[in-house]
Amino acid sequence: VLELHGVHKSFGDNHVLKGVDLEVDQHEVVVVIGASGSGKSTLMRTINLIEQVDDGQILLSGDDITDPRVNADRARARIGVVFQHFNLFPHMRVIDNVTLAARRVHGMPADAAVAKGTELLGKFGLGDKVSDYPDRLSGGQQQRVAIVRAILTDPELLLLDEITSALDPMLVGEVLDLVRELGDAGSTILMATHEMSFARSVADRVVFMHQGRILESGTPDQIFGAPREQATQEFLARVM
Ligand code: ATP
Ligand code: MG
Repeated sequence: VLELHGVHKSFGDNHVLKGVDLEVDQHEVVVVIGASGSGKSTLMRTINLIEQVDDGQILLSGDDITDPRVNADRARARIGVVFQHFNLFPHMRVIDNVTLAARRVHGMPADAAVAKGTELLGKFGLGDKVSDYPDRLSGGQQQRVAIVRAILTDPELLLLDEITSALDPMLVGEVLDLVRELGDAGSTILMATHEMSFARSVADRVVFMHQGRILESGTPDQIFGAPREQATQEFLARVM
């Protein structure tokens, strides 16, 4: 579904991504770990075309979305994104937040979008919040709403960047449980997180980023149980 070939990105003279190669297959859950500043968010932002790559290619289901002739909005519409801060519109009810992009960007008929949104909100324990405003919801509920918004149009890829790091620790579990369910149901997910136990239990593959490169990648058992690289060992010793 996703392929990165030699992706470079600098901010001024700060060379943040130094040739990233990465593949995410259909139905795969890939979790990116690494120290703060290693480039995880920059990687996510280049995939979503918020940042332009300086060099290299990003292919989404075979289409080179870094080609300057590609319509960035249309490419972005094929990817569901949830970031650290939920970014729900405070003046819109939950159901309108959830269906806005589907209606505006994808041209989904309003009644179909509302039906699907209501169904998904119900499925993920938010059935009684459909008509509430976001400020009536807990942070964990708001973040689950943001995930429902991201999956409403069945994106080819779900990009999740530190979606639990702004949450009260009590609320982290309910959000991670939802991600686990999506992974089990076959969604293709690329997720950056500091939640190591989640990475270990849910990821099909774990990728360790270090100073703008993917230093090693493997199954959770390989990365957490027998990391090959010294930098990986040191990172895990610090965070576990
Ligand atoms: P964290 O674990 O703290 O989220 P991260 O791995 O996501 O860290 P990034 O946010 O990708 O790290 O940052 C990597 C580097 O890129 C940092 O040195 C940061 O200062 C720099 N950087 C990121 N975004 C920008 C930007 N828009 N302009 C300038 N520098 C940036
Ligand atoms: Mg980050």
